[in-house]
Amino acid sequence: MTIEPPSLNFTSANAAAIKMFGAADEAEFLSLSVGELSPPRQPDGTPTPQKMEETLQIVLQEGSHFFEWAHCRRNGEVFPATVLLTKLHFGDRTIIQATVRDITERKETERKLEEVNAKLTELSMTDQLTGLPNRRQLDQKINEEITRSKRTGKGLAVLMLDLDHFKQVNDQYGHQKGDEILQQFAEILRQEVRDMDLPTRFGGEEFCVLLPEIEADEGRNVAERIRAAAELLSDPAPTVSVGVGYWEADMSSGGVLRRADRALYAAKEAGRNCVVTYCKQPGKGAQNLSDSE
Ligand code: GH3
Ligand code: MG
Ligand code: MG
Repeated sequence: MTIEPPSLNFTSANAAAIKMFGAADEAEFLSLSVGELSPPRQPDGTPTPQKMEETLQIVLQEGSHFFEWAHCRRNGEVFPATVLLTKLHFGDRTIIQATVRDITERKETERKLEEVNAKLTELSMTDQLTGLPNRRQLDQKINEEITRSKRTGKGLAVLMLDLDHFKQVNDQYGHQKGDEILQQFAEILRQEVRDMDLPTRFGGEEFCVLLPEIEADEGRNVAERIRAAAELLSDPAPTVSVGVGYWEADMSSGGVLRRADRALYAAKEAGRNCVVTYCKQPGKGAQNLSDSE
């Protein structure tokens, strides 16, 4: 179609343009302005007349301009389009030729692709057996939470949990039963933590819970609740050892995970089915782990 500034009324339109906008014929089409074939605002929120004016200035200055535009058909249906405007001169007349392409399908394909990508990202961040977030998601969240804690000054704790003698459970009851226990244990984690906490399957029969905004010793209480809840599972009830690590200023995610892991190791050493909090005792070397109680 063509437009003749400064009025911005159409001066010609081909059959495809008339059909795309749903006009009855060229006469009807030519009675319309660009504004009448666009919604009041463009997708970025700018009022259409303002954006039309800006666009016109660009094409007049630069000779051509390609952009996305929201149009609407005669029946009111809004559709996304790409527009190529080209400035042409006929003697002393300036005419703008517009090529408008309906990109509804392309937008729909893009939207579906984004959906698929979001789903893929979610899948890559989720453990398939338990549905819990996986280690990858933990790595991401723990760094986010450390950044937040640095800002807010609030505490942050990590629980590292490992089911006791799980190899034996598998040997005795079968791998299938082992899987079921892992799923039941994941459910306990979901139930015993707050919405803001992040229970994750760290790998195998190891789990990790990220506890942001936690007061000293609250982490231990959560760990104890989880340990006690596992004991209530039946046939067979798995027992779990838990290490609690508190984050301290300037500590990296690796640092706090290491604390929880070393506390877990101490819990195993202490006979399993118990909770140990990492406790810093400078100068005591290997003895720097002890039950906080
Ligand atoms: P400990 O008390 O020292 O933790 O003993 P453990 O037997 O739990 O420790 P170990 O690391 O030797 O064995 C872990 C076992 O967990 C080995 C493996 O058979 C089992 N396991 C790991 N992942 C899965 C899983 O996805 N499903 C099942 N059923 N078992 C798993
Ligand atoms: Mg184990
Ligand atoms: Mg293990």
